[in-house]
Amino acid sequence: MIALYGGTFNPVHVGHLHVAATVADRLQLPEIRLVLSARPPHRDPVPVGHRLQMLELGCAEDDRFVADDREVQRRKASYTVDTLINERRRHPYSAIYWVIGMDSLLTLRSWYQWWRLLDLAHLVVVRRPGYRLQLDPVLRGLVQHRGFVPPPWARGSDCRPRGVAGSIVMLEEPMLAVSASSIRQDLRSCSGSVRQPVRDVTPAVADYIAQHELYRSTD
Ligand code: ATP
Repeated sequence: MIALYGGTFNPVHVGHLHVAATVADRLQLPEIRLVLSARPPHRDPVPVGHRLQMLELGCAEDDRFVADDREVQRRKASYTVDTLINERRRHPYSAIYWVIGMDSLLTLRSWYQWWRLLDLAHLVVVRRPGYRLQLDPVLRGLVQHRGFVPPPWARGSDCRPRGVAGSIVMLEEPMLAVSASSIRQDLRSCSGSVRQPVRDVTPAVADYIAQHELYRSTD
């Protein structure tokens, strides 16, 4: 059983950690790997090293969380599908879960080779405040055929679909109304003035941001 949760984590925030903890609780996973996605260097004013350090600090909050830098180690552009192909090669007979928020599900068809994802893994979709399940007809059909909503009391194997890939597990618990972009915006808007504590990140991540003066000018 392998659970991967991808994101830019710029920075990792309590919303991400709540997602990871909820998925680990519901599916009873001993481990969930938070996979840092690479961004082209010219689009990355906050160097990937900082994002990784913050992700490690965030993951230290829960024994089940592991910060995973495999995508940033790769030399060429890294896509989710490539990560899943590699993982499937290494673990041909294990269930793989790829975790996403509702906003990511809505744009899934813009992902590189998105139609291959379900051949390689199950998707676990969590709610995201501000986003509703308004899917285009293709995704709606997919969710109708492959979707599975575990009852609220279900845990462990009752939440896990059969097989090693191919289903969409829809978890219905509410998530936190937090986003990395609003955290960055808050920090930009108070740069130059008296330093405010950073909201919505763990104390260790807040200290890291303050110490390295991140997100003060541009994105
Ligand atoms: P940004 O605001 O910069 O777009 P973000 O807060 O959405 O960042 P990402 O690292 O892009 O963070 O998100 C990684 C994954 O986590 C995505 O699948 C996203 O849908 C999901 N996610 C992020 N924040 C939440 C949240 N508060 N609740 C539920 N899912 C979330």
